[in-house]
Amino acid sequence: MVGSVGFESSALESNGSLKTRINGEDDAREIVMGRNVHTTCLSITEPNDDDEFTGDKDAYMASVLARYRMNLVERTSNHLGYPYNLEFDYGALGQLQHFSINNLGDPFIESNYGVHSRQFEVGVLDWFARLWEIEKDDYWGYITNCGTEGNLHGILVGREVFPDGVLYASRDSHYSVFKAARMYRMECVKVGTLVTGEIDCADFKSQLLANKEKPAIINVNIGTTVKGAVDDLDLVIETLKECGFSEDRFYIHCDGALFGLMMPFVKRAPKVSFKKPIGSVSVSGHKFVGCPMPCGVQLTRMKHINVLSSNVEYLASRDATIMGSRNGHAPIFLWYTLNKKGYKGFQKEVQRCLRNAHYLKDRLREAGISSMLNELSSTVVFERPRDEDFVRQWQLACERNMAHVIVMPSVTIDKLDCFLKELIEKRSTWYQDENVQPPCLAADIGKGNCTCAHCN
Ligand SMILES: *Cc1c(COP(=O)(O)O)cnc(C)c1O
Repeated sequence: MVGSVGFESSALESNGSLKTRINGEDDAREIVMGRNVHTTCLSITEPNDDDEFTGDKDAYMASVLARYRMNLVERTSNHLGYPYNLEFDYGALGQLQHFSINNLGDPFIESNYGVHSRQFEVGVLDWFARLWEIEKDDYWGYITNCGTEGNLHGILVGREVFPDGVLYASRDSHYSVFKAARMYRMECVKVGTLVTGEIDCADFKSQLLANKEKPAIINVNIGTTVKGAVDDLDLVIETLKECGFSEDRFYIHCDGALFGLMMPFVKRAPKVSFKKPIGSVSVSGHKFVGCPMPCGVQLTRMKHINVLSSNVEYLASRDATIMGSRNGHAPIFLWYTLNKKGYKGFQKEVQRCLRNAHYLKDRLREAGISSMLNELSSTVVFERPRDEDFVRQWQLACERNMAHVIVMPSVTIDKLDCFLKELIEKRSTWYQDENVQPPCLAADIGKGNCTCAHCN
């Protein structure tokens, strides 16, 4: 996200470098277009003839890895900005690292490659099918490599069902949605958002009416990346019908990468369900669930998938996935967590995350810091810290004048207290000088949530 953020408030210099500006100042970090940064690279060295004899190379590599491990421990403990649950124990699965597990092709059709984990994969998919209320015989899905792949797949299915459809997505949608539009060369309409980050259905309506003759493919956000806003699925469906779009003229993909596995456990939250006229749902496996490798789950309707698949003789399988080889370990990790925690376990974790998010927002408010927390969300948006070292120290994600903390199960009250203490201390030094004022967040989170001098 940091990468995409830079572009929003960046200026392309004449030498081709892209400088990000915060509050009018140059960020220390530069993104240089067309040039990669190699300063922190651990280069590969060819083995010497006597390496095996002296063991020097092994000792060198062991020390590099030990240092790297320490860095991981530190970076894991000081992490607040990304929606990753970093707390898990998969010790029991260590024995599987010796195998090259690969789920090539379709999860429901055996391929000739035997070192796979389809039995785990289908078990996980069935669990999600029950959660999102679709019968076993009516769904198709697979464990993806990430949430982005789920979006790429869902939107592709929509495009195959409606080849001349127009893609609608709110401006706060994840960049992978617009990437899909570019990749598939689809006509794409960006719909405005409310200050909460939710899709603005009034704007959606006028855009639909302007393109009435073409079918609609809609990306609905179950949690937006920056503000954690949940689009009102029922209102989106109602708006479509109001504009004369019958169910055979629209396709809805639900991007649940962020909150797809939290929403079902929040009371009052709008329900994501295949009993409603939706085409697909995706969720990231490494975010709320927690998993050592990126992964995701994608579910769609069986009737749609036949449009997409072609036979690939080489695999003796159907080819309806985006990738060829797929991570065979990921389904086992998901299977393991789902078994361990179950529905009740997730429910408890969700409730704790929401409580802790409220705690953080309340403490920020008490300290006079602009902040916002959407009702169904554990994403606390607040004033962007002035000091980029502080941002890096806590791995905060920033956009325009906003920063956010996403409260995941690994983010405890102790950690939040430690963060708050440091933020409040440092902030008092950032704004010592009366001529330097905290930024105004009225445009980002609304006047009511902004504490700047101008808004008050
Ligand atoms: C994180 C995220 C994605 C992409 O998921 P990856 O697993 O990082 O590819 C898509 N949509 C939303 C709303 C997200 O928060």
